[in-house]
Amino acid sequence: MILVDTHCHLDMLGDLEGALTRAKKEGVEKVVTIGIDLPSSEKAVALAHKYDNVWAAVGVHPHEANSFNEDVYAALAQLAKEPKVVAIGEIGLDFYRNLSPKEKQIATFKKQIELAKELKRPIVIHCREAIAETWQILEETDAFVCGGVWHCFPGDVELAERCIRAGFYISIPGIVTFSNAERLRQVVRNTALEWLLLETDAPFLAPVPKRGKPNEPAFLRYTAEKVAELKECSLEKVAKITTENAINVFKLIKISKV
Ligand SMILES: [Zn+2]
Ligand SMILES: [Zn+2]
Repeated sequence: MILVDTHCHLDMLGDLEGALTRAKKEGVEKVVTIGIDLPSSEKAVALAHKYDNVWAAVGVHPHEANSFNEDVYAALAQLAKEPKVVAIGEIGLDFYRNLSPKEKQIATFKKQIELAKELKRPIVIHCREAIAETWQILEETDAFVCGGVWHCFPGDVELAERCIRAGFYISIPGIVTFSNAERLRQVVRNTALEWLLLETDAPFLAPVPKRGKPNEPAFLRYTAEKVAELKECSLEKVAKITTENAINVFKLIKISKV
């Protein structure tokens, strides 16, 4: 059984080597590590170079939009051309915490969609309390040509259907195991496995029964088990199809070291 953790932040984990070993033991054979600003994007690329089974996404998170400028854009564009960089992300809007001003978040999101379009890369969308605004920007910029992933899916069945029609995958975090996450469980029940991805968002959002602990890719297994339960199918089937989806959207091809 092979699982793919399609969204985590390896650079933020305390015991990285241990975490990658434990992940493999649980079948989490591939990991996409995600940037939130330029320094973390650089770290993500370095980790992808170092480890065969790690790939990277580069981008500036809405929380970090204040750090985005022309120089950062140019550096990201350069990084994005590295062979194991598989997406632009995470990018989007977060009007829950508003750690950067809304206008700056919107401008930063739009610029990075342009980058993804130029480089023909999928995008990894982060969205909190900003679904309507996010959708409007996706439409305005015609981001649908990039394809990609709506990570840590924050919406309901209706949004999930809209995403799929537009060609975006729905990524299911450990939240699906939380008692108060009925809306997300409904999304899983109603969405074809062919459109689902699994993610930890480690070190955040550890699933039950690890809730409250720092999350790590190995814990993806609990999320996969919950999805299997909701879809009334085997864990192996969930693993097989979500892994195919991840390989399809991110083109996770092993690149031999030169
Ligand atoms: Zn996020
Ligand atoms: Zn994240």
